[in-house]
Amino acid sequence: MVKILVSGAGAAGLCAGINLARAGHTVEIVERANHLRVNGSPIDVRGDALETARSMGILDAVHEHRITMTEQTMFVDRSGAAIAPLVTQEINDTPEDLELPREDLMTILRQALPEQVDLRFEESIATLADDGDQVTITFASGREAAYDIVVGADGVHSAVRRLVFGPEKEFSEPLGVYVAIGDAPGQATPGEARVSEVLNLPGRFAGVARYRDKALGIFEFRSDPIDYDYHDLAAQKRILAEAFAGIEDWKIPELIESAQRDPELYFDAIAQIHMPAWHRGRVVLIGDAAHCATSMAGRGTSLALLGAWALTEELGRHGEDLDAAFGAYEQRLRPHATAAQEFAHGGADLVVPATWEAIEARNARLRAAQPL
Ligand SMILES: Cc1cc2nc3c(=O)[nH]c(=O)nc-3n(C[C@H](O)[C@H](O)[C@H](O)COP(=O)(O)OP(=O)(O)OC[C@H]3O[C@@H](n4cnc5c(N)ncnc54)[C@H](O)[C@@H]3O)c2cc1C
Repeated sequence: MVKILVSGAGAAGLCAGINLARAGHTVEIVERANHLRVNGSPIDVRGDALETARSMGILDAVHEHRITMTEQTMFVDRSGAAIAPLVTQEINDTPEDLELPREDLMTILRQALPEQVDLRFEESIATLADDGDQVTITFASGREAAYDIVVGADGVHSAVRRLVFGPEKEFSEPLGVYVAIGDAPGQATPGEARVSEVLNLPGRFAGVARYRDKALGIFEFRSDPIDYDYHDLAAQKRILAEAFAGIEDWKIPELIESAQRDPELYFDAIAQIHMPAWHRGRVVLIGDAAHCATSMAGRGTSLALLGAWALTEELGRHGEDLDAAFGAYEQRLRPHATAAQEFAHGGADLVVPATWEAIEARNARLRAAQPL
């Protein structure tokens, strides 16, 4: 039984909190935001992660909240006419894969978090010192505390990774595409056959995704790395507006306008994280912090579930030999992470083809697989 600090309350951090507390450890989670960040587009629980969800006792809840959005996604032309369906076999692992709203999964995980887990919002690690026997943390609030283990579950821009392993640029591989997700005008119509629509222009993707009573605008655009502060929402909105400036096709102006008004807009570079090792001393990384595969893989949440589970099991198996426990966790998860990262490399050509010719070739391939 050890005292563990988890940085980040995303899917990886909450799963770590659930599993580690149930295994008898004392767990504190710090989350930089002042609330659980539940926004974003629906996510998938795939393959082996379904079994992990079952072991965690959340599979029934995940089933109950299931939606089937990607099964009903249509690429449209500049006037909005259907031109090619997205074929689910292009993205799913097995027919059993489940898709659910990101907010629903986050709520399920929050509810499964044992009461004794100390979850603190508006808190983050400022400094970290691992002396071999314990890790001493100074928090942004000024508080100081010591832990046996620190788990970095703070996402693609992980502070734990930066403090222990080095600057983000050493591990980040941008895939040349930016993504933004925000509120879209209008609500879903129950039973609507065409649930989500996407328009591609060369190097641009603008779509509206509908599920239940929600409508989301989803944007992607190809770009060289852009220099901006990734915490700066105003800068994110400005970059998004510039990327689609002057485009009057389809619903793009109203979608962009609506996204601009969303106080929870999600915006980021699509970048993978590649690290030679995910642990050092008493510190270990899980989820996107360790091995972000990006939304192009559609496997980030599944990897978060698998990683938190494997870490807890290996800590149970190896007791105080942290090196052995972390090494075994990493060995178990690496093949999953590597496969997801490799899968993502084809994503940009599927989702954001660079030229009109590439868009037409993609559409022809999809129509051949599943005629309209
Ligand atoms: C708001 C949001 C929206 C997203 N939307 C999508 C989406 O639409 N599609 C998609 O494929 N993926 C999306 N993702 C990424 C997806 O959630 C992850 O790929 C996946 O679930 C793995 O989760 P994770 O817990 O490793 O990372 P994340 O989900 O990124 O969670 C990391 C958590 O750590 C917190 N955090 C960051 N820095 C610190 C710090 N210094 N101290 C403390 N806490 C910190 C963050 O606020 C966040 O809550 C989104 C992530 C976020 C945060």
